[in-house]
Amino acid sequence: MTPTRRLYHDDSALRRFEAVVQAVTAHDGKPAIVLEATAFYPEAGGQLGDHGTLGGVEVIDTQELESGAIVHVLAADPGLAAGATATGEIDWARRRQHMAQHTGQHLLSGALLDRGNAPTVSARLGETALTIDVARDKIPEAELAAAEALANDLIDDDLAVRAWFPDAGELAQIKLRRDPKVAADIRVVAIGDFDYSPCGGTHCSRTSQLAAVRITGAERYKGMTRVTFTAARRGRAALFAHDHVLRALGQQFSCAPTDVPAAIDKLRKDGEATRAEITALRGRLADAIIATLPGTGPVIAAIPADADLLRSIGGKLVTAGRDALLCAPDDTGAAVVLFRAQGSTVDCGALWKQLAARLGGRGGGRADRAEGRLAGPVGDWPALVASCAPA
Ligand SMILES: [Zn+2]
Repeated sequence: MTPTRRLYHDDSALRRFEAVVQAVTAHDGKPAIVLEATAFYPEAGGQLGDHGTLGGVEVIDTQELESGAIVHVLAADPGLAAGATATGEIDWARRRQHMAQHTGQHLLSGALLDRGNAPTVSARLGETALTIDVARDKIPEAELAAAEALANDLIDDDLAVRAWFPDAGELAQIKLRRDPKVAADIRVVAIGDFDYSPCGGTHCSRTSQLAAVRITGAERYKGMTRVTFTAARRGRAALFAHDHVLRALGQQFSCAPTDVPAAIDKLRKDGEATRAEITALRGRLADAIIATLPGTGPVIAAIPADADLLRSIGGKLVTAGRDALLCAPDDTGAAVVLFRAQGSTVDCGALWKQLAARLGGRGGGRADRAEGRLAGPVGDWPALVASCAPA
C-alpha cells in the first residue's frame, strides 16, 4: 500500500472530507479501510488515533502501518470497494481535546525546560491520564509552579500555533527544543516564538484554545520526574468538579472554600482531644471498678464493660502484679481479656483455646496475653475458667 496523504498536516481543523478508497482490508480481525488521503489522525507521538465515521460506519480506531498507509478500523463492513469515494467525519469533540492537550504538552514541556531545567524525555496523552517524563530527578515545588504559571501566561497571550515543513536551510536556523525522530520531511510545530518542536501531531491554532494548563502531580520515576497535567475542556471539567466539592465542604463547615483546610485541621484536633478525654475517663472508670474487686491475688471476674474498658482494667491489674482473667458478657456472648502478671505461670493463649473449644469464638494470643470474643453464654465465669485451666 502507498502512504496515505495526511490532510490534517495542512488543516488540523478539517472535520469532514471526501477521499478515494485505496484498499479494503482488516486490522486485528476488524474491517478496515485505507484511503488515498485522510483527515483522521493515526495514533502516534503520544497522541491517540481519531474516532468518527467513514461511509456512515463508525471508525473505532486509526492506526498507521509501516508503509505509511493509514488504516481506519471500523465497527462494521461499510460495503465500500477500492476506487469508491467515501465521506469521512471526525469525532470533533474528542479530536479537539486531543489537539488541545497535545499543544498543552508542548507548552508545558517548553515551560518545564525554561523554569525547571527539565528536558522532556517522553509524553503520553491517554484517554484519562496526561503525563510528561522529564530528565530531572527532583524538581522543587516552586519551579513546577513557575513552569505552570509561565504556560498559563502564554495561554493568556493568545500566541499563534503554526505547523509546517521547513526546507533544510530554514530548519538549520530553527532552534528545536528536542531532536527530531525522523531524518527527512521534518515537520515543525511552533508556539509563537516560545517553543519549536519537531512533531507530526494535530494542534490548536492559538494558545487561548487551551483555556488553562494545570499540573496535578509530580512523582519520581526511574530517575526522572513524571509530571501529570490536565488542560482544555477536560481540565476545566475536572477543576470545576473539584471546586464544586470544595464549596459543598465549605457549606458543611459553614466557612469559605479556602477556609476548609483550617476547618478540617480544627476537626482533627477536636477529635484527638475527645479521644484523649475518653481514654482518661476510661482510666478513671477502670480504677473505680478495680476498687470494687477483691484486694489481692489473681482477678477472675465478669464485669459489665466493653472490650476497651476490659483491656484498660486488665492493664492496670497486671501493672499491680495481678493476673487479669476477665470477661464482659452481653446478649450474644462475651468479650474476653486474659493478661498474665509478671512471675505468674498462667498460659493465657492455652486458656483461650480451651474457652473457645467449649463455647466457640474468635481470638487468640500468646502465653502472657490473649484476647477474643466467645460466641456463647459464659454462665459462671470463675467456674468456667477453673474447669478450663490446663492440667
Ligand atoms: Zn508533539
